[in-house]
Parts: sequence; structure tokens; C-alpha cells
Amino acid sequence: MSLLKPRLKEKLRDGLSRWYRRHRRDLPWRRTRDPYRIWVSEIMLQQTTVKTVSPRYEEFLRRFPDVEALARSSEESVLRAWAGLGYYRRARAMREAAIKIRDIHGGAFPDRYEDVLGLPGVGRYTAGAVMSIAFGGPYPLVDGNVARVFARLFGLRGDSKAPTLSKKLWALAEELLDRRAPGDWNQALMELGATICFPAAPRCPACPVARHCAARLEGSPEAYPSKGVRRRRQGVRLEAFYIERAGRVLLWKRDGDERFLKGHWGFPEAGRVEAVPGRLLTAVRHSIMNFDIFLELRQAALRGGAPSGHARWVPVERLKDYLVSSLWLKGLSAHGTASGSLDGVRSFPPKLARAPSV
Ligand code: SF4
Repeated sequence: MSLLKPRLKEKLRDGLSRWYRRHRRDLPWRRTRDPYRIWVSEIMLQQTTVKTVSPRYEEFLRRFPDVEALARSSEESVLRAWAGLGYYRRARAMREAAIKIRDIHGGAFPDRYEDVLGLPGVGRYTAGAVMSIAFGGPYPLVDGNVARVFARLFGLRGDSKAPTLSKKLWALAEELLDRRAPGDWNQALMELGATICFPAAPRCPACPVARHCAARLEGSPEAYPSKGVRRRRQGVRLEAFYIERAGRVLLWKRDGDERFLKGHWGFPEAGRVEAVPGRLLTAVRHSIMNFDIFLELRQAALRGGAPSGHARWVPVERLKDYLVSSLWLKGLSAHGTASGSLDGVRSFPPKLARAPSV
């Protein structure tokens, strides 16, 4: 059953497509139809801004120019290249997906929707984006921007993540999809949400579809869509140890039941190793997902032998090859240099007090 009148669909498509052709931003991932490159950009842009992603995207592609390069990389090198983008499980899943493409699809990026959807870390949105933009396939998508635009255009109240409204948004996306140029159409919708139909203070006078917008006609576009229940932020106090022996530092792989930075190397937390805490080296605040972390990095001396399994002694000058998250880098930089640059990692620690003897 059709949700929209044919004439309205036509007007929305024409108005928005014309506007997109004239106003689209020149972004690095819009200069290619290579599915690998488009996929990388789509994964990076989930939960990370265009401004942050743009330079990192080029760097990542220089390091991993194709599926094969990503598939043969180590997990650590991918996490390192991902540093600063956050939500590291995306990077891990991308590497697994590249391995799957190499082993199951012969190294060629799949061009069937079901195969793309079957890759680790790929959901309905990403599959739709890759299929429509890279292959011109007739697949719609709904992300946060599109959900907001649709909720306002069609006056849909409710939480866009709730199943009932989400289903309706996807049905609208399917029906409105411009099958002559699905990639451009999907990008036009997202571009409108990103550059005109802002969550707060949308620029309605500049909007190419303003005359059809129910929320604007009603006079309160900001009220759409309603806010969902936000996850509560949690404060976490983290005491970690800087344990050095003969120029090497003990690091710990967070492979247990950690709530954040799972799979990352970091300094061992109190309770993970048997150590005698010494003086406080630095204290920093950092947020990861919904956790507000207060890290205290303390000098410590190991009691007994080095723990096995999750632990590794790493030369001081190689710490930056292991420590990816800004949480640890902030700790090192705050203590290691006044500038706070990553170079501080190399010079850390400038002057440590003698470790307590045990
Ligand atoms: S008229 Fe305003 S609220 Fe409606 S879609 Fe355009 S920018 Fe968004």
C-alpha cells in the first residue's frame, strides 16, 4: 500500500535532487565508486563527525588501500590506524569483514545485498549505503539524519528508534527512493539532515522541500522526532599502574569482562596484577561511550613474577605501538609533555621517582 501521493513523491524527489546537485559538499568518499572505499567511509562516519573522519579516512586508505591489505593486517595495526575515531569495535569488525571477503568472496567486494549484509559490522543502513552508492542498487537507507528529515517532513511523532516508527521510516525510505539514482538520492537525504535540517534550529528558509514539510507548517520542527530515552552516563574511577623494569613497561590486554576498550592494550588496572602502588604520576578525565572515566596512573612495583597470559613487557619507546586509546595517550601526554602531543609518548616518562621496593 502506498504511503505517499505520487505527485508529492515527484516533487520531493525533484526538489531535493536538484538541490543536492548544486549544494553537495565535496567529500573524499564522494569522489569514488569503489565499494571498499565507500564501505570504509560509511563505517567511519557511524558515530563520528565528517570533520574528524575526513583526514583519518585518507590516512587509513594509504595504510590499507584495499581489502587484501586490510585482511592481512594485524588487529593492533588496524586499531592504531583507527586511533582517535573511537568505538573501536568498528575497526575490529572491518578487519574481520576484510578477511571474510578475501576467504569467501575471493577478495572482491561483494555486490549482492545479502552478502554485504552478511559482513561483520554491517547492518541494514551500511548495506543500503554501499549497495546504492557503489553499485547503484535500489536499496534505501535510514540513519539519524534521514529519520529526522522524514519525521519532520511527514509530521511523525515518537522515538525514531522505537520499532513502530522505525518500521514506518524504512517503509517511507523504500517508497521515496529514486530508483534512477539511488546513491545520489540517499546521499541527498542525509546531506539535507546534516547541513540544513539540524536537530536544533533547522534552516527551514534554505530547505528545498520546505513547502511540503508538515513540521514547519505546524511551526515547531524541533519537536520532531521525540527524544528517545538516553542511556545514563556512568562515572568510572580507574586506577592503573605504570610498572617499569629495565626499560620495559608492563602492559595488559583487556580481554576479560571489561566494559570499555575491550581487546585493547593498556596499563594494568589495580587488581589485575599484584603490585605495590607508588606515587601518582597523572590523573586525567576521558569519556568513552557513556562512561566518564577518571584515570589515575600510578607508578608501581610488581610483587613477584610477571603475570602471564594477558600481560606483555613492552620497551618504553614502543609504547605508542600498543596504546591506541586516547584514554592512555592522554595519561601519557599529560605526564610526559606540557604540549600534550602524542610525541610525549616517546619521551615518557621524563623523570620517574624510584619505584617502591618490595
Ligand atoms: S522545512 Fe525545516 S524542518 Fe522541514 S525538512 Fe526542511 S529544514 Fe527540516
